Amino acid sequence: LTPKKHLANRRSKSSPILAIDIGGTKVAAALVNSSGKILFAARTKMAAHGTARQGLQSVFAAANSVLRSASLRRPACIGVALPGWVDSERGILFNATNIPCWRNYALAGKIAARYRSPVRVANDANAAALAEAAWGAGAGYESIFYVSLGTGIGSGYVVRNQLIAGPTGSAGEGGHMTINFLGPLCGCGKRGCIEMYASGTAIARFARQRLARASARIAGDLPRGRDATRITAESISHAAAAGNKLAAEILASAADHLAIWLGNIVDLLEPQAIIFGGGLAPALLRYRSRIRRGLRAWAINPRRAKVALLAARFGPDSALLGAAALCRER
Ligand SMILES: [Zn+2]
Repeated sequence: LTPKKHLANRRSKSSPILAIDIGGTKVAAALVNSSGKILFAARTKMAAHGTARQGLQSVFAAANSVLRSASLRRPACIGVALPGWVDSERGILFNATNIPCWRNYALAGKIAARYRSPVRVANDANAAALAEAAWGAGAGYESIFYVSLGTGIGSGYVVRNQLIAGPTGSAGEGGHMTINFLGPLCGCGKRGCIEMYASGTAIARFARQRLARASARIAGDLPRGRDATRITAESISHAAAAGNKLAAEILASAADHLAIWLGNIVDLLEPQAIIFGGGLAPALLRYRSRIRRGLRAWAINPRRAKVALLAARFGPDSALLGAAALCRER
């Protein structure tokens, strides 16, 4: 059977899910089957800075492209992952820094009206957590805490394949938990959030501060003085892997702060596994045993040594697969 015929034959009973991942610059859409396999995929630019209608048209363009490839008109269910604060119960995006065209926007209703399919929306970290629980590193664990380590820090908590996301779906957001009330002011308005210590933005900021005044001996191959402004979390991660001591020290400090935060999480939720995803996860997982030691100091739960610390299975597709996983819930 060609993929198209295969889909046509199964359309009536188990149509694949249409998954949509919306970011500040792109919309990714895909048809995903019930085992988490992507069958057809497409991407378009996201018009995040235009009118609300233009933003919606970007979403329709990506979705239509996928549906056309699959000769499918009406998916069984549509899952949507978005950055920012989402009311999953009512299908509303409250606000997302990267998507200024939508504020208090009833996105699910608009998409449902266009395709006449049920629509589920969730925050992208929550969605990615669900994908890891369903098909990824968390499969087989009863409860997982998912951490997305990228430009910012997101998180999601899943128990028995259900997101624990509160009455509206906004809970599970741990990236702005304060671990130092005297710490630096965060963009969210609070002080000393974990995002101010262990996100890509924070790692680059610490590195620039250190390298602006570092000697050539300490900086090694990293740019210093005025050139330190070029530093990114990625360059720190590469330099650390290549043996640069200052870069390694900066990442180890981020890992130490993660351990404080995760210690609180372990005591509060007792997840069986903590799953590290996002672009910075590989760099910080090189400090897995350090985080493990840190948990001994920063958690008091007697099971703290047994919590698995795992690398996420899904990379850039995690939110897209998470959008699909939203349709498996309930
Ligand atoms: Zn914050």
